[in-house]
Amino acid sequence: MDIDNKEQELKKTEQAESEDSGYEDVCFVCHRPESKTGKMIHLAKDINICPECMQKTMDMMNNGNVDYSKMDFSRMPNISMINLSDLQNLIPKRQKVKKKAPEKQEAPKKSLDVRSIPAPHKIKESLDEYVVGQEKAKKVISVAVYNHYKRVMAGTEADGIEIEKSNMLMIGPTGSGKTYLVKTLARLLDVPLAIADATSLTEAGYIGDDIESVLSKLLTAADNDVEKAERGIVFIDEIDKIAKKKNTNQRDVSGESVQQGMLKLLEGAEVEVPVGANSKNAMVPLETINTKNILFICGGAFPDLEDIIKERLNKQSSIGFRADLKDKYDHDKNLLRQVTVEDIRNFGMIPEFIGRLPVIFTLDALSEDMMVQILKEPKNAILKQYQKLLALDEVKLNFAEDALRAIARKAMEKDTGARALRAIIEDFMLDIMYEIPKDDNIGQVTITQDYIEHRGGPLITMRGVPALEMQG
Ligand code: ADP
Repeated sequence: MDIDNKEQELKKTEQAESEDSGYEDVCFVCHRPESKTGKMIHLAKDINICPECMQKTMDMMNNGNVDYSKMDFSRMPNISMINLSDLQNLIPKRQKVKKKAPEKQEAPKKSLDVRSIPAPHKIKESLDEYVVGQEKAKKVISVAVYNHYKRVMAGTEADGIEIEKSNMLMIGPTGSGKTYLVKTLARLLDVPLAIADATSLTEAGYIGDDIESVLSKLLTAADNDVEKAERGIVFIDEIDKIAKKKNTNQRDVSGESVQQGMLKLLEGAEVEVPVGANSKNAMVPLETINTKNILFICGGAFPDLEDIIKERLNKQSSIGFRADLKDKYDHDKNLLRQVTVEDIRNFGMIPEFIGRLPVIFTLDALSEDMMVQILKEPKNAILKQYQKLLALDEVKLNFAEDALRAIARKAMEKDTGARALRAIIEDFMLDIMYEIPKDDNIGQVTITQDYIEHRGGPLITMRGVPALEMQG
């Protein structure tokens, strides 16, 4: 009675172990777990054999036509019958492996539907939360993106009217938010985005990335889902660097021919793309991607474009009575806004290329006021990020308004747009981030103009005590 109880208990614990503990039986012969092999045949405690191995053993016995029953193993050297209970001592205590966590069920794919695309004013409102200024650019891009995805959904129906693709060309100084605008847009629309640098692209066959490699990046961004990639956005930065070179007799492998090579991609073509690699070779699988519905956005600073615009405007205004002064446009900060297709062509972009980027718009150079706004207003503004970091140490971080102005002025001197802001802030926040956690009594830190301009330290307020100036 006692033994029976024990056995039952043992069985129960075994069962509970395999069900609850997350462990499963392993085949004694092939060492595969039960989840792979199917239900195990239980031979003795902790000795299990999978159906396949059991079958193989049977087959071996039958095929050999051996009548084991008539054999006397005791007379054969080195052969003895296996006693299963002896094996018990040889096998490790736990003949089980940890069950794999069930793979997460993928969320059902969102299929694009006209009603799911936010209206242009909604897109712009969302962009406003992140991108400061650049009103015109945000408006143009919102409308163009809205039309693009409507076009993707409409296809060419029976009426035969095909809506033209709204690829874009974005012109604006470095650090004015071109990349940031596209990144924000792709995130809001939840579409994959690939960012490539035009300077790294070469015509197929030359050293550098093939033009098609941008599609590989897009495919990776879409988790190798071709359908998703075909609705994505490709941003090609520094597009001005592939302008046609003037006065050269050599073959232009990085300029004009790259523009030529990009034409079919911009327009819509079936392209074979290596999966997970930058170049095609025998070892990587290929996928075919149709670029018809991929939105291409090209961006660049076009540094000498202002001179070209100025020259044209001066020429126009010097004819007739209303001849203007020659230097009228010299100090016009937003001269770029007056750009025409002709100017871009004079810059060195070939007409076929410009023709495939029908939406052209410019971004303004950032002013000091915009820099201050960028510091504090966007949803994930740099100041907010630092405030959050210090709040985790229960320290309140403040910035005096004149300190923000001082930071903006310093950034303006660097001439790299808003990109300079982070570098400047990181520089002076280093000491703060290093010193503050030393003292638990610090409750508040105020960054002052004096601190930014190296004339003093930040204002420190201890918990429950009036403010002190930290020794710099
Ligand atoms: P570029 O025009 O050279 O592509 P980026 O878009 O890379 O410049 O800008 C660099 C950084 O500066 C961005 O990551 C972003 O944080 C900030 N930034 C630039 N312009 C703006 C803007 N208009 N509004 C908010 N942040 C901006």
